[in-house]
Amino acid sequence: MKTGNVVGLVGWRGMVGSVLMDRMQAEGDFDLIEPVFFSTSSAGSKSPAPAKNETLLKDAFDIEALKKCDIIISTQGGDYTSDIFPKLRSSGWTGHWIDAASTLRMNDDAIIVLDPVNLPAIQNALVKGGNTWVGGNCTVSCMLMAVKSLYKAGLVAWISTHTYQAASGGGAQHIRELLTQFGTLHAEVKSLLEDPTSSILEIDRKIIAKQRSLSAAEMTHFGGVPLAGSLIPWIDKDLGIGKQADEENWGISREEWKGMAETNKILERGHAYGCWPTAVDSYCVRVGSMRCHCQALTIKLKHFVPLADIEALIAADNEWVQLIPNTKEATLEHLTPVAVTGTLNIPIGRVRKLAVGPDYVGAFTIGDQLLWGAAEPLRRMLRILLAAS
Ligand code: NAP
Repeated sequence: MKTGNVVGLVGWRGMVGSVLMDRMQAEGDFDLIEPVFFSTSSAGSKSPAPAKNETLLKDAFDIEALKKCDIIISTQGGDYTSDIFPKLRSSGWTGHWIDAASTLRMNDDAIIVLDPVNLPAIQNALVKGGNTWVGGNCTVSCMLMAVKSLYKAGLVAWISTHTYQAASGGGAQHIRELLTQFGTLHAEVKSLLEDPTSSILEIDRKIIAKQRSLSAAEMTHFGGVPLAGSLIPWIDKDLGIGKQADEENWGISREEWKGMAETNKILERGHAYGCWPTAVDSYCVRVGSMRCHCQALTIKLKHFVPLADIEALIAADNEWVQLIPNTKEATLEHLTPVAVTGTLNIPIGRVRKLAVGPDYVGAFTIGDQLLWGAAEPLRRMLRILLAAS
């Protein structure tokens, strides 16, 4: 079926949506489409600059207006998708739905899109009439962009990741809350900081006292605890997996669960594909960085491979991955959120064999979770659809 070029955009004002808009403008995507902008909060207001014929925002809950789109890209969030997507489909709409939210990812008829990793799966689904395309979890997408070559070479027995996830992973309001908390903490000790003779323990005591006494209004977005000057080793819901069965591996956050479920779906591994899934174990931690998700990886190889060969496989995989030499200088220059933010680079460094044995490789990788972890696969999916029409 031919696809038209009327593209509805929902959620364009949010964290992912703003980055998506930037990238679509930078890549000239708006030249190829007739954009229609929707809003859940300000229908009737002026549409943003890339609008052409439709200059006023449409109501994102208006099914009839949504149905006029050939393609809808939603970066609005899971609640919106859960509410609107079923209504839209049951109204008979067969257009392409491209989504950043996790809601539909594990549905049988949805493809998790990350085309540098799974273009054949996307093309196969397209030929069969697929029309639901969902961006993957941000840490999973960034991890696969870095080490997909090792999976594809059949080398990965299992992988363990410890993540350091930026505040913006939660959305626009989370960034605001983090920065406001930093400001509050700084204000608390400003005069002491200005006095070089002040006691460092007094500064320390005042900061912890302030962190512990922040009001509920100052801590609404990270589960009621401060993030500034702290970290939070739990992201997303408590799935309670295994609690009923009294299993010893219970207590997995939804973010951690996604690591194994989505990695295997993207790589077409697991029982649904007639093979064993690859184990992916994660500890997912929210830290006070602005943007970019980092992760320390432990990879168990299926058999011994020299480190130089591992590095060569990683470096040759795709145009965005960057192998960073395992030196202090190169690490500080290239392997921090500040270095990577706003770029499509996927640096991977600290690559070395681990003391536990020669079949274990460690690495540290970073990706801008708003680019490869969210917006970029969506706009590339739009391009794939437009090219196929
Ligand atoms: P977000 O920044 O909270 O934006 C979502 C919506 O919130 C916006 O479209 C906007 O809707 C509304 N909003 C309310 N107050 C706002 C404000 N002050 N500034 C901007 N928007 C505001 O959420 P997001 O991080 O973009 O996430 C959207 C979806 O992508 C979620 O399903 C998320 O799980 C997924 N995702 C996020 C990331 C990430 O790194 N953040 C990565 C991968 C996937 P209206 O304009 O209609 O009011």
